[in-house]
Amino acid sequence: MKNREKEWLVAPSDPHFVGNGFRMHNFIPYDQRLSRNRMDPFILLDYQSDFYFPPSEDSRGVGVHPHRGFETVTIVYKGKVAHHDSTGAGGVIGAGDVQWMTAGAGILHKEYQEENFTKEGGNLHMIQLWVNLPSNHKMAHPSYQGIKEADIPKVKLLGNKGYVDVIAGLYKNTKGAARTFSPMHVYNVHLEENGTADFSFPEEYSTAFLVIEGEVTLNNKDVVPQDHFILMQNKGTDFVLRANKESVILMLSGEPLKEPMVAHGPFVMNTQQQLVQAFQDYEEGKFGYLKE
Ligand code: MN
Repeated sequence: MKNREKEWLVAPSDPHFVGNGFRMHNFIPYDQRLSRNRMDPFILLDYQSDFYFPPSEDSRGVGVHPHRGFETVTIVYKGKVAHHDSTGAGGVIGAGDVQWMTAGAGILHKEYQEENFTKEGGNLHMIQLWVNLPSNHKMAHPSYQGIKEADIPKVKLLGNKGYVDVIAGLYKNTKGAARTFSPMHVYNVHLEENGTADFSFPEEYSTAFLVIEGEVTLNNKDVVPQDHFILMQNKGTDFVLRANKESVILMLSGEPLKEPMVAHGPFVMNTQQQLVQAFQDYEEGKFGYLKE
């Protein structure tokens, strides 16, 4: 065991709207410390901090758009998000739920605040993470895993001062709910005041966490406020979080794919030629059809 320390504490960037329904702080990749290569295999992280939307009769969200070459992971902490895609799938993601969508060879989808949520107004608090696909799975058949809060395995923490939702990978030998194409660990860590949780990930894994709620101290040293992101060094393996108040933390650790990335907008491929092909296939309607 060797201690792993922070590399950067990153404050939330100015928010930008995705469509008219999501008020996102981007961490990955537009902060230059959190480039796609540095965070590999995590290629985008948009974070909607806890934000109140007043009631509205107009739908709020982002209309039909394509993705190819990666997976989109949506985790909702407060509020409700609805989605529909060109495979005919759709549903509602509520508090604690996870949608793990494999765009693979290509999908069209739309993402909205759930209709009644918009009508009544309320707080929305969520993330969207993009996970890159290894080159041999870039053209995987599109699919999605709708994972309900109740179906996410939970590991109780020492002294019963919290628990870990194992969304993907492993925590203390408990296997996560989501299937992934490359090795990674994704958790929601729930800590009561003074609760602690320890983590151990291979040194080379890109490892980071985001304080969704509350405030934590890393390795008895670094105080990390709500809405702040910590990138960990690739030196050492183990670290510990202590909650200064009741807290929720999104934890990410993944084995870098170390493959070339050629990205534009909603397409992330390995070569320029594949990127051109993605635009061409999209324009020729090969991603299927979805009604606006
Ligand atoms: Mn999308």
